[in-house]
Amino acid sequence: MKIKLIGVRGSLPTPSDNKEYRNKIRNILYRAIDKGLSDVTQINNFINNLPEYLQFNYGGNTTCVTLTSNSGKLYLIDCGSGLRTLGDELLSTEFGKGKGHLKVFITHCHWDHIQGLPFFKPIYIPGNIIEFYSPYENLEENLIAQMNSPFFPAPFNGTASTKKFHLLKEGEPFKLEDDLSVDFYPLKHPGGSFAFRFKEAGKIFIFATDAEFSGETLEKTGNHTDFFMNADLLILDSQYTLDEHFRKFDWGHTSYTVAVNCGVRWKVKHLVLTHHEPSNNDEKLKNILNGAIQHRNEMKTKEPVIHLAREGMIFGL
Ligand SMILES: [Zn+2]
Ligand SMILES: [Zn+2]
Repeated sequence: MKIKLIGVRGSLPTPSDNKEYRNKIRNILYRAIDKGLSDVTQINNFINNLPEYLQFNYGGNTTCVTLTSNSGKLYLIDCGSGLRTLGDELLSTEFGKGKGHLKVFITHCHWDHIQGLPFFKPIYIPGNIIEFYSPYENLEENLIAQMNSPFFPAPFNGTASTKKFHLLKEGEPFKLEDDLSVDFYPLKHPGGSFAFRFKEAGKIFIFATDAEFSGETLEKTGNHTDFFMNADLLILDSQYTLDEHFRKFDWGHTSYTVAVNCGVRWKVKHLVLTHHEPSNNDEKLKNILNGAIQHRNEMKTKEPVIHLAREGMIFGL
């Protein structure tokens, strides 16, 4: 399966501001002094060798991730503001002709996880089929509510695509394809949230945000250990530093330090830190990545490999 990150910011869409943009230009030009860049190839090589936080923006769109199965079918996890760009891209595929079929998994209904849906053009095209899967009996009601007047001009039920809702049941892995299944696990978060675990051809991908793990909850062994063990790829809420988590205990998010502890404890191969705090710019996020790697190294282990979620990032399993 292939996993692509479309939105990685937590809580609120966060465009980078002009101050950060100018700081990046200054920092890049400073590094270019004396490099003698005189043609496009040299410039491209220079860019490709910059630190990641200068080569890219980590991204300001809220949570949205796609999974493409080995058979080529497309699945979506959460409908944050990243969904708008995905919808625009899909218009050149069968979704633009009203022949698209998408299965969507929703972790919970906080705004940052559903706010992209009203701007997802394929839902307005007749013939497209959008199927929603979640453990929430009231998911349809909640998606209708966010598009009701006066909050949005077009009502959810007025959109022309066909929408279907499916309730996932606890403890029953749901078969999506012959060799692709999904199950879920409840997370500590205000109002609740669910982690989804996808299994295909012996590979495991787990998506877990918004989630508050602490040293104390991690110490308790139990069902969560069974659910999270041995993932090939775990995308995990890491919104806070440890200090921020102490100040924001019970706000429903994990510190990057504890996220690394989780990844090590659960023998995860690749750990992706996500749901970035809106007040953190790319330089601060870079420091969080470095801090997370250092923390793992201090635990005398090379696994998991740690990544910082960035829009456009792709993982193949
Ligand atoms: Zn969130
Ligand atoms: Zn939330």
